[in-house]
Amino acid sequence: MVDYTFIRKDMIKRETVIEGILEVLSPLRIGVGKSGGMDPASIAKDTVLKDVNGVPVIPGSSWKGVFRSTGETILMARNITVCSGVGKNYCLNNYRKYDDFQDAIRESDINNALKIFWDYTCLNCKLFGTMSVIGAVKFLDSRAFEYKLGTRTMVAISRTEGAAARRALVQVEFVEPGSKFNFKLIGTNLPNYAIGYLLTIMKRIHDGYTQIGGHKSRGFGFVKFANLHLLNSGSKKIGEDDLQASLPDEIKAEGDKFFEEVKPYMEAFNNAKIQYPVH
Ligand SMILES: [Zn+2]
Repeated sequence: MVDYTFIRKDMIKRETVIEGILEVLSPLRIGVGKSGGMDPASIAKDTVLKDVNGVPVIPGSSWKGVFRSTGETILMARNITVCSGVGKNYCLNNYRKYDDFQDAIRESDINNALKIFWDYTCLNCKLFGTMSVIGAVKFLDSRAFEYKLGTRTMVAISRTEGAAARRALVQVEFVEPGSKFNFKLIGTNLPNYAIGYLLTIMKRIHDGYTQIGGHKSRGFGFVKFANLHLLNSGSKKIGEDDLQASLPDEIKAEGDKFFEEVKPYMEAFNNAKIQYPVH
């Protein structure tokens, strides 16, 4: 009998918070799209996303995308089945179980809905959510609390359908290196291996293997974490098969040291035998 606590939303057995500071190491651009069109005679402005007070933000949805795609690479390297979560490429659709799942929900057959969702979704669908199902982890919007904005003029190529490619100048606004944002994620009912998976993704970002935002090929989007704090409350493990090495419930340390101290969680992920999705 599988323990479905990880994917249950009707009870909270464990809450996990990971928070800290994000330090910007190279120009960072989380954009809002272009204003001013692509008229070659004028310079379009490509501004950074800001909140109502004009403070640069990295939306939680952007974090979710970064974590999901970075995680996909990690899982594929371990030969663990994972969907991209983009467009129609998501597990319930790929396994043709979306309608069965919806029927089970409609008929209030919760056990069957849990069984279908457990058996026919990957770790990314369970953690980050999928069509009509919210994930087990939530990313808060990151706000800059120390920042400078810069601009750089770049050549953009616009391809309007049926017309030749046109080149236009775009003034790209970015957040300067040295700027700082807050960072926070909250997980519900996460097994230790899932926490280890999230930490493995964070370490890849911290170590510079994953860039965030736009213009990555120009060297934008390198960041690292500082002042990190992991806090688990509630149950020590989730599910019968969750690995329960003696994992500390609270770890507070600087960036590099933090990732040393959370190694037992990352080992729990490395040693986890992930049995879903079934084939
Ligand atoms: Zn999936």
